[in-house]
Amino acid sequence: MAKLKIVHSELNQEVEERTRAAAQLKIFKKVFENALEGISITDPEGRIIAINQAFTDITGYSLEEAVGQNPRILKSNRHDESFYKEMWDRLKTKGYWAGEIWNRRKNGEAFPEILSISSIKQDDGEVSHYVAVFHDISEMKLQQEKIQHQAYHDELTGLPNRYLAHDRLSMALKTAKRQHTMAAVLFMDMDNFKYFNDSLGHTCGDTLLQELGSRLKKIIREQDTIARLGGDEFLVIAGDIKFQEEVLELAGRLFEAMKEPFSIAGHELLVSLSVGISLYPEDGTTADLLIKNADMAMYQSKISGKSRYHMFTPELNRLALYKMDMVKEFRAGLTQKEFMVYYQPKVDPATNHVLGLEALVRWQKQDGAVVSPGEFIPMAEETGLILQLSRYVLEESCKALKLLKENFSFPLTLSVNISPLEFKQPDLAENMLNVLKSHLLPASSIEIEITETTMMTDLKSTLEKLNILKKEGVSIAIDDFGTGYSSLYYLKKLPISTLKIDKSFIDDITTDQSDANIVETIILMAKNLGIKVVAEGVETKEQFELLAKYKCDLIQGYYYAKPMPLEDLIRYLENIAKP
Ligand code: C2E
Ligand code: MG
Ligand code: MG
Repeated sequence: MAKLKIVHSELNQEVEERTRAAAQLKIFKKVFENALEGISITDPEGRIIAINQAFTDITGYSLEEAVGQNPRILKSNRHDESFYKEMWDRLKTKGYWAGEIWNRRKNGEAFPEILSISSIKQDDGEVSHYVAVFHDISEMKLQQEKIQHQAYHDELTGLPNRYLAHDRLSMALKTAKRQHTMAAVLFMDMDNFKYFNDSLGHTCGDTLLQELGSRLKKIIREQDTIARLGGDEFLVIAGDIKFQEEVLELAGRLFEAMKEPFSIAGHELLVSLSVGISLYPEDGTTADLLIKNADMAMYQSKISGKSRYHMFTPELNRLALYKMDMVKEFRAGLTQKEFMVYYQPKVDPATNHVLGLEALVRWQKQDGAVVSPGEFIPMAEETGLILQLSRYVLEESCKALKLLKENFSFPLTLSVNISPLEFKQPDLAENMLNVLKSHLLPASSIEIEITETTMMTDLKSTLEKLNILKKEGVSIAIDDFGTGYSSLYYLKKLPISTLKIDKSFIDDITTDQSDANIVETIILMAKNLGIKVVAEGVETKEQFELLAKYKCDLIQGYYYAKPMPLEDLIRYLENIAKP
């Protein structure tokens, strides 16, 4: 009886254990079936005996197709024999291997996975199975690549960005150094992008940048890089250059490619580029310096008329340093009142009466040197300091005009030059009118001189400002006429009262018949439009006589008088006012 009891309890225990084992097995099976990782089990010879659903999902092989096969069916050709040998060596010695590996799906597509293989041993130490567990990481890789791509590419154009450009350039420099060749950096800036962007809208602007990017990409050699640095700035990196001519030829191709207009949303847009070029090793041996120098050369292209290229020169570098010094001195000059306004008379050739004055600023430095505006106005424009300077010139001019009006009975109009940056200020008209008011001067005693480029940059807002000024009585003159667009159409459209023919035409009117014809035609045409004409830079009697014959309204130039300080002007006016 007692024995029976023992056997019974042993049996019970056994049943319990088996039930537990069966339950555990069921769980294991579930885990095996439902795991997200692909799992395969092979016999010691490497024949697959079991796979789970994820294995099928990832590799495309069904249970029937996989069983009996060697896992070699998954092998991609991305790893060499030594890779697999190491894997097996490790499996044999350590009993497991784990790492990243490229396998191939049934449909032929290679994919990356994280794989771990372990050997299962029997009690006697013999391997009974191998179990491989793997996780498909192709999505993750793709995501990583996307992030990588975003960090190094410009979103709009898909071109390499500043960082990648820097990398590529550094690499090109290393290669050039090794191979004793040159590398070139071409810094490009679209000349009229702001105009397109403002007038056609940002969507069109974006499309234009994309189109420009892809057009430029087609022009460069395959081994070269085209990058977008931001805004309308692009960079070409060309390596393996043996002769400077190759770079010039590349620049030539860039300009050639701009001859064809871009068709954007029904508009035909002609784009021009300002380009600056620096060369390794001549102009710098680091990526930073080469980009900086190419930028500087590009700027040179901008200020010398755009739509062209400049090579970097050490001279440019000196110029840049000089400019930096000048900015410092200029700021100091503004606070220390080193600027003076000179006045140049405009005279009616028929009567010799002075009818107008042009205010022209001078920089009288502390050492006594007088610097002319041509040398500092571009820098003042660039730094925005022109706004402060103009305000000063306008205030001084108003004071002078007030004084002249009190001392002389004849009517005088005073002209002030307005630079493009100043003209862009939204409150330009209001500010000017306020200054005039504060000096108790009628708006009709003032004329502003603007250039054609200033007018064309943003026609709509130009027109608004000009109309406000005109309505209040301020006259508007086009300065340096003939050097810009010289468009009759705009002359008609804008409220212009005066045209100033540029000195470059006046210079040769007595020697060059075609210049004489141009000047005569401009005068005739302006008269037809009811616009007054001033000839600038008249120096000789012959020029004066010819212009008088053409019935030019006013003469300005050394022939009558140079620009002069107020005291000298007063003396000058006293002399001619006296009979
Ligand atoms: P602009 O407005 O065309 O002024 C005429 C320039 O020609 C002046 O040069 C004047 O001195 C010069 N000029 C006049 N008659 C003769 C002549 O018979 N022969 C020669 N060789 N030159 C003559 P300046 O004063 O050096 O000014 C150069 C430019 O700087 C001006 O050209 C104007 O665009 C700009 N500027 C001058 N003052 C100001 C200012 O207060 N504000 C702004 N924004 N620009 C100014
Ligand atoms: Mg002027
Ligand atoms: Mg002028």
